[in-house]
Amino acid sequence: MTFQPRKRFAQHWLQSEKTLHQIISAAELSQNDRVLEIGPGTGILTRQLLPLVQSAVAVEIDRDLCQHLAKQLGQTANFLLLQGDFLSLELDALLSAWPAFQHPNKVVANIPYNITGPILEKLLGTINAPAAKPFDSIVLLVQKEVAERLYAQPGSRAFGALSVRVQYLATCELICPVPAKAFHPPPKVDSAVVRLRPRHVEMPADNPRLMGTLIQQGFSSKRKMLRNNLKGLIDRDRLTHLLEQLKLNPQVRAEDLSVANWVALSNQLNTGDLLNRQDTEHITEDTDSAPLP
Ligand code: SAH
Repeated sequence: MTFQPRKRFAQHWLQSEKTLHQIISAAELSQNDRVLEIGPGTGILTRQLLPLVQSAVAVEIDRDLCQHLAKQLGQTANFLLLQGDFLSLELDALLSAWPAFQHPNKVVANIPYNITGPILEKLLGTINAPAAKPFDSIVLLVQKEVAERLYAQPGSRAFGALSVRVQYLATCELICPVPAKAFHPPPKVDSAVVRLRPRHVEMPADNPRLMGTLIQQGFSSKRKMLRNNLKGLIDRDRLTHLLEQLKLNPQVRAEDLSVANWVALSNQLNTGDLLNRQDTEHITEDTDSAPLP
């Protein structure tokens, strides 16, 4: 049975055996693993996962696909399918009814690209509220531009607000690039497999909300110097002084600061330093990022 891919659910069926294999091996699965999959689609990845793990729970929004998957995999004892929107689902509460599937420790998924930011936020939490029970690893197929931001190093063009927010919470690696033709229909962009390992934050920010605000404002216009992006927030002389204390050139741009620099900068500030306090922290793609080459 073939399923006509639906645009509104960002459906692109993975067709490449090679990519499937790369995803599976990056997840380093064992019989002790309990996996969470987001958007199983026709189940191409699910079928590969199931024999390798203790259990797998998959969340799929599309009712028709759920019926199909239930017919195909409904008899598989270590598989649980939940129909719904992953973003609004209360996974912990739901899974309390199925103890064998509770507390998945790994995520393996070819996710819908239109909700990548919110999925990352749900899986990792935020700087202000990191996930209470972090996953051991998260292997995702994402669009290439997002992948580049996730594993970018400070000082590179791709290092944006998303990079800092995610790398504060997890280490990120590129596993492999994936060409658009690996999917049916091919998406407009190339893709990549990435692996995130949520980590214990070694140097937690004293005021994570403030750090979130600094990042948001600091990256608001990528071409500008950090001190110009932050001028509505912190007095210019005070910021110059703080940057010098951190051994940073007062003319730096946001992309030149490492995660540790952001933590240190926010730790040096106190709320009295702020000219105009704003509380915003969400994992979204950067609003003013220049297109990558
Ligand atoms: N994993 C499959 C399908 C990937 S396409 C494959 O590799 O071929 C993305 C999948 O996510 C689709 O099945 C789509 O229906 C599902 N999806 C889209 N939005 C979703 C949401 N909010 N919650 C759960 N699943 C979603």
